[in-house]
Amino acid sequence: MSDAASTDGVAFVRAREGAREKGRAFPPLPEPLPAPVYDDHTHLDIADGDEPLTWHEQLSRAEAVGVKGVVQVGIDLATSRWGAELAGRDARVLAAVALHPNDAPELAAAGLLDEHLAGIAWLAGQPRVRAIGETGLDYFRTEGDAALAAQARSFEAHIAIAREFGKALQIHDRDAHADVLRELDRVGAPDRVVLHCFSGDAEFAQLAAERGWYLSFAGTVTFKNAPQLREALRVTPLSRILVETDAPFLAPAPYRGRPNSAYLVPHTVRIMAEVLETDLAELCVRVAANTEAVYGTWDDPS
Ligand SMILES: [Zn+2]
Repeated sequence: MSDAASTDGVAFVRAREGAREKGRAFPPLPEPLPAPVYDDHTHLDIADGDEPLTWHEQLSRAEAVGVKGVVQVGIDLATSRWGAELAGRDARVLAAVALHPNDAPELAAAGLLDEHLAGIAWLAGQPRVRAIGETGLDYFRTEGDAALAAQARSFEAHIAIAREFGKALQIHDRDAHADVLRELDRVGAPDRVVLHCFSGDAEFAQLAAERGWYLSFAGTVTFKNAPQLREALRVTPLSRILVETDAPFLAPAPYRGRPNSAYLVPHTVRIMAEVLETDLAELCVRVAANTEAVYGTWDDPS
């Protein structure tokens, strides 16, 4: 899946099939935020747009508008290694490492799942790898008993790695809310759980918050046709709110459909402040503190 080319001496992974259509330029820089935040889920390595931005272009744009750090998220062994390596040499980056739920069936069928999980466990021991993810369940793209069983096994193994190494767990949940909940309750959730790109309703938000989990809101919360996400945001305790891009996917309004990047977080935070009827600067301070509570501090080298 990752057709690696090279940019600035590090692997630059091409976007997944279909992500690069013609006529898609990166949006302009938004007005800077009054206080800094982090993007807690981004893929700096997945190229998108007519003229893809390198990871350092993305980070310097982000910094310029008050997004002072990111969690770079791996989706397979190669991208997880890449993120861990980048986090080791750029203070604005922490890494999350995992095998994506949609890749587990193929890895299992090829007899490679255990070997790749061992690779993820090895990376989990690195100090600037602060999360295991994205892992979870995806019932939108995966079907068939064997494939779903492989995905569930991979999820359980990732939960175990997060617990063993004391790292946060970043959950990918697509059309699988009930089973994600059931699986984490059954296996035992790690201390810090993040529902990345939160996609549930207010009821699911409450169930997650009751368990002390964090809800990471993406550009989807700005979409006109997603009032249920704004409802979910309203019932989430302020102490459990995070913000992310999932870039290069899911650019926030008014740039839906364009390539996304960490520097576009301000659009999402501004809408969140409106929904919560809270002061923007206050919200930024709260969300940044929540993010550090989950992942630790960015400037800490260890
Ligand atoms: Zn992602």
